[in-house]
Amino acid sequence: MFELFYEPYYNFTSQFLQDNKITVFISKSCEPVGFIKDLISFTDSLVDFRFKIVKKSKNAEITFSEQQVVYGNPDYLGVAIPNYDRWNLVIKKSAGVYKQWAYAHELGHALGMEHPFDAEDGDVWNYSTTDDTLMSYEYRPSYNWFYRQADIDTITGIWNY
Ligand SMILES: [Zn+2]
Repeated sequence: MFELFYEPYYNFTSQFLQDNKITVFISKSCEPVGFIKDLISFTDSLVDFRFKIVKKSKNAEITFSEQQVVYGNPDYLGVAIPNYDRWNLVIKKSAGVYKQWAYAHELGHALGMEHPFDAEDGDVWNYSTTDDTLMSYEYRPSYNWFYRQADIDTITGIWNY
C-alpha cells in the first residue's frame, strides 16, 4: 500500500472536541456506504464524543470521498490530508479488497493514529508487531478488514479521558 500522510497534526484533536462531536461528510462517490457508516458507528461506540454525519461537506470536520487516482499517483490507495482543523480522506475507487482497509486506515490517521514504522517517537508501537494494527502497511487479515485490538486501545487511549 502506498499513501501519503503529512506531518502528524496531533494538536488538531482538541478542536474536534470543542463541541464534543466530529461532523462527517460522505461523498456520493463513496462505496460501500454501509461499510463507512458501520466504521463510523463502531468508532463512535469507542469514544466519549459523538460522530454526526452531515449533508454538506463545508460543515464537515472529516470528509470521505473516492477518486480514480488519488493525489495524482496510481499507486496510492488512500490519503489523509489535514487541512487546518479538518481532514480530507480520499480513497482510490478501484482499491478492491483493500478499500475497506483504506477507509479504516485513513480514518485512523484523522483520529491521530500513526504507522507502526513511525516509531522513532517511542510511543505505543514499542511492543507491537505490524499484525497488531491496520495502521501497518503489512496488515493482511484473511477477513474482517477492521480495527484490531491495538487500534481500539489506541483510539480509546487518545480520545477518552
Ligand atoms: Zn497511513
